[in-house]
Amino acid sequence: MKAVGIIGYKKSGKTTLLVNLARELKKRGYKVSTIKHTAGSLDLPDTDTAKHKEYISEVAAISPYESIISLKGEKKLEEILSYINADFVLIEGFKNEKTFPKIVCLREEKESAQLFDGLQICAAMFSPVNIKLDMPVFKISTDTGKIADLVCKKAFKLPNLNCGGCGYETCYELAKEIVKGKKSINECVSLNSPIKITVNGKSLALNPFVAKVIQGSLEGMLSPLKGFKKGKIEIKIK
Ligand code: SF4
Repeated sequence: MKAVGIIGYKKSGKTTLLVNLARELKKRGYKVSTIKHTAGSLDLPDTDTAKHKEYISEVAAISPYESIISLKGEKKLEEILSYINADFVLIEGFKNEKTFPKIVCLREEKESAQLFDGLQICAAMFSPVNIKLDMPVFKISTDTGKIADLVCKKAFKLPNLNCGGCGYETCYELAKEIVKGKKSINECVSLNSPIKITVNGKSLALNPFVAKVIQGSLEGMLSPLKGFKKGKIEIKIK
């Protein structure tokens, strides 16, 4: 799954860009999901679901057309991503997250000083006139195709484990190098772990130490068993 963030201040065109980009990627045959950060609560006014939420912390609603689960409290982005099955996830807001590249929507050039954090792959504006930035600056209303081309080339998501296995202390450090084109996502040992564990169909992010311990323990336990040979091991636990 690849991800790209869309950040910017209020009225900078984030949602317009996100909707246009989602439409364009879908037109190209990709499965697209979106996640939006919001400062307020996620109320559904005047619905029965809202009445449930008044008294109960976890509420689900299922209709023939869609299903929702409302969980109490703010969840980590990675936890929510584990529910999503898509080629691209467009993440609106979350400007403090540092594990994926970002499109920065600007109302004026000087906002770049506060919003650029080394993960920006381009800027986007409603009226990009006389803007001098060291990167592509697109017009939100008309450049969706060009932005989609860039997203297809540059989108990625690191696991946010900060395990140090890639030689950088944090995922943010590697993410900045990937955005600069100096490193690739293949440097993340967690994403390229020899062990894959899925729980209820969702992959777990494993840091290299845990992966090694699991691999060593399993091989150690299985090796005395009749028929064991070193090779690919598959275990399913119901
Ligand atoms: S190996 Fe992957 S998970 Fe670990 S710090 Fe590097 S990028 Fe993050």
